[in-house]
Amino acid sequence: MKNILVVGGAGYIGSHAARVLKDKGYFPVVYDNLSKGHKKAVRGFAFIKGDLGNKKKLKTVFKKYNIEAVMHFAAFTEVGESVAEPSKYYENNVCKVISLLDAAVESGVKYFVFSSSASVFGEPEKERIDETHPKNPINPYGRTKLMVERILKDYDTAYGLKSVSLRYFNACGAHPSGKIGESHGVESHLIPIIFQAALGKRESIKIFGSDYPTKDGTCIRDYVHVNDLADAHILAMEKMEKENKSECYNLGSGSGYSVKEILDSVKKITGLDFKIEYAPRRAGDPAALVADPAKAEKELNWTRKYDLEQIIKTVANWEKKRRY
Ligand code: UDP
Repeated sequence: MKNILVVGGAGYIGSHAARVLKDKGYFPVVYDNLSKGHKKAVRGFAFIKGDLGNKKKLKTVFKKYNIEAVMHFAAFTEVGESVAEPSKYYENNVCKVISLLDAAVESGVKYFVFSSSASVFGEPEKERIDETHPKNPINPYGRTKLMVERILKDYDTAYGLKSVSLRYFNACGAHPSGKIGESHGVESHLIPIIFQAALGKRESIKIFGSDYPTKDGTCIRDYVHVNDLADAHILAMEKMEKENKSECYNLGSGSGYSVKEILDSVKKITGLDFKIEYAPRRAGDPAALVADPAKAEKELNWTRKYDLEQIIKTVANWEKKRRY
């Protein structure tokens, strides 16, 4: 297997996956409508500008490039926005995915890697979340991800499309080269916002909620480097092809950090300073989300190369060199 369609490959996680695929000898073909992605993130890659819902165009691309597997990253990802605008989320994250799946099935593609999310679990019932944890998403974003996971099971039963759903915890960090990194039109994620505050691009960083039932009252998350996620995609795809079996994996580090701990770590590691304010809780945020990554470690042989310090260092490097 060589030719892989990377849908949403000009976005944050997709662009890192495309690069890692290329480094490992695959031929990634990037398909992106550039509504959120960046052309500069895929310089030197085979690139097609197109929409996720454009089945006709997708079928042409599958044929032209003899695509053998799809990695699907093109989704809206803001929890708060999904609460305010569910229609937008169900349309893009679910309805349009049917077009992509049908195009893949009708073109004879047999393997599909899906960017799922820890948000499929909702409020955790135990400290570390493994794959068997109940799935009760508490916001529309999480519900869109769970719906697609279920659709994928039905596509396996009916059409034999094998898939792997990878549930990311908090994707962060940047490529160590500093050539690509996280860049959203309107930023909502914690680590990039801290850097915006530290580099004078915003006045302060607001902590959303300090009355959660956690050690310091702020939300706990599991931060995992984007290149480690990219590695897991390739390992999962290779195993799926070898065993011809659909699976799902939780991808996180297994360690949880509070918002306050992240702020302190950025200060300590970079020497940068910034103003902190306290704000009310953000809609749709669970108190804590930490992965139990044992299944991915055991079955995929997945190891992580980046801890929190290295994550912050790669972001600092990207912020210094940022081109988009
Ligand atoms: N957060 C915050 N201030 C911000 C952005 C995020 O306090 O300006 C918190 C947010 O409430 C959550 C954690 O940081 O508890 C991580 O949020 P992010 O949006 O990065 O990822 P999510 O967990 O929503 O996927």
